[in-house]
Order: sequence, then C-alpha cells, then structure tokens
Amino acid sequence: MSLNLSEITLTYPDGDTRLTALDRVTLNVPRGSVAAVVGPSGSGKSSLLAVAATLVTPDSGTVTIDGTATSGLARGELTDLRRHKIGIVFQQPNLLPSLTAAEQLQVMAHIDGRSPARARGRALDLLDAVGLGPQAERRPHQLSGGQRQRVNIARALMNSPTVLLIDEPTSALDNERGAAIVDLVTRLTRRQATATVMVTHDRTHLSTADLIAEVHDGRLHVPGNPQRDPRRRTGI
Ligand code: ADP
Ligand code: MG
Repeated sequence: MSLNLSEITLTYPDGDTRLTALDRVTLNVPRGSVAAVVGPSGSGKSSLLAVAATLVTPDSGTVTIDGTATSGLARGELTDLRRHKIGIVFQQPNLLPSLTAAEQLQVMAHIDGRSPARARGRALDLLDAVGLGPQAERRPHQLSGGQRQRVNIARALMNSPTVLLIDEPTSALDNERGAAIVDLVTRLTRRQATATVMVTHDRTHLSTADLIAEVHDGRLHVPGNPQRDPRRRTGI
C-alpha cells in the first residue's frame, strides 16, 4: 500500500463546539490505482485531501505514505515528504500568469534543486503526456480551462510523486472535457504508478476508477468494507 489513511478523525472549531469534518475515515490506495471519492459539497472531500497531503494534522488516526507513518515526522521531514512524494492538484489551478506552461513545471524542479536542463526535459515530456506538447510555450491566458487543468496535473507530477491528490478536477469543465480529464488522470496513474485520490461531487465519467468511495457528513463508505456503524452490526 502506498497511501493508507487509517481511522482519521478531523474536527474544526465551530462556535462553542467542534464540527466533525472527517469521522474515522479509512482508505487504502495502492500505487497505479485511482480511488475516486464522491460526495456532496461540504461532506469532507477537501478535508480528506488536506489530511492525505499532510497539510492538516488530524485529531486522531494515521496517514502512512510508502510505509512511513507521517505522525512521527518532524516539520522539516514532512516538508521533504510533501516535496518528493506528494503531488497536489488544488481545485483552483493557481498557475503563475507570467510563466509559460513549461516554466510552470520547471519551477517545481527548481525548488527541488534539479538541473535546469533535466527539469526542462521532464517538463516537456510531461506536457506531451497530457497532450500539451504544442502548447508548452503558451502562458495561462493563452490556454483554455481544460488545458490549464492539464498543466496543473502535469505540474503535480513533476517531482515523480508516489501519491497524487486531485480536488474536483472536472468542476469547471463541460462534460466532454471532464471525461477527458478523468481518462487522463487514470492513464497517468498507471504510467507513473501513483496512488491517486481524485475527489469530485459528480459521479459521471468515473468508469475507469479502480474504486469509488462515497463520503457523507465526514464518513467514508468504501464498497466491500464492513460498515462500522454499530447500529448496523447489531441489526437495530
Ligand atoms: P467538501 O470539499 O466536500 O466540500 P470540506 O472538506 O471543504 O468539504 O468541508 C467539510 C466541512 O468542514 C464543511 O462543513 C466545511 O464548512 C467545514 N470546514 C472546512 N474547512 C474548514 C475550516 N478551515 N474551518 C472550519 N470549518 C471548515
Ligand atoms: Mg472541496
């Protein structure tokens, strides 16, 4: 297993009480597979990704990446882990307006101290892989919404992550482009052998996902997993 979430509970302060955003969430994602997480707005999808990305520390439960339990890591070690092992595609494609598509990717490698020539080579390979070879020298305003989303995804793969986390990649796209993005994510997942979690509020186009889990009010229902609700177990 290369991404494992075990019994994750996350709460946020909410007036005098606390709001439970994730309630004992368990999910295993092997490398080379896509786990799609579907659920309505406010159900906890982005919170789940933030915990998996180690950007938010849960109240309880463990996140394990490539066999390393992240709860035992110091802050600097966590930063390293994120940089080398985790690719994140946020809901808003926060591309830098002044950079070309290739440069958006090269910046990631620069942060990582890779040689500029190697970074450029990898950036161009990845842009090819997402079907944007011919657009490598365009800036964000010269790209369509779907193309920007592809740059965003390619950028997340720049440092060859183990784990790829994608937040609602199709929400701003029409149906056809949405389907193409999901297909692309699946192909890249197989080729780059990432453990991919893709969250989305709509169930369409998910036929290529290896697993579809549903989240409602912070509880994740994974098909095949035993229900943890004690009322169900006792049949009440
Ligand atoms: P989704 O991505 O499925 O729309 P979120 O994970 O963003 O859901 O939110 C889950 C719940 O947690 C919602 O009720 C939301 O209002 C709440 N929430 C999310 N982030 C915060 C935060 N930083 N502080 C307080 N409450 C939050
Ligand atoms: Mg969200």
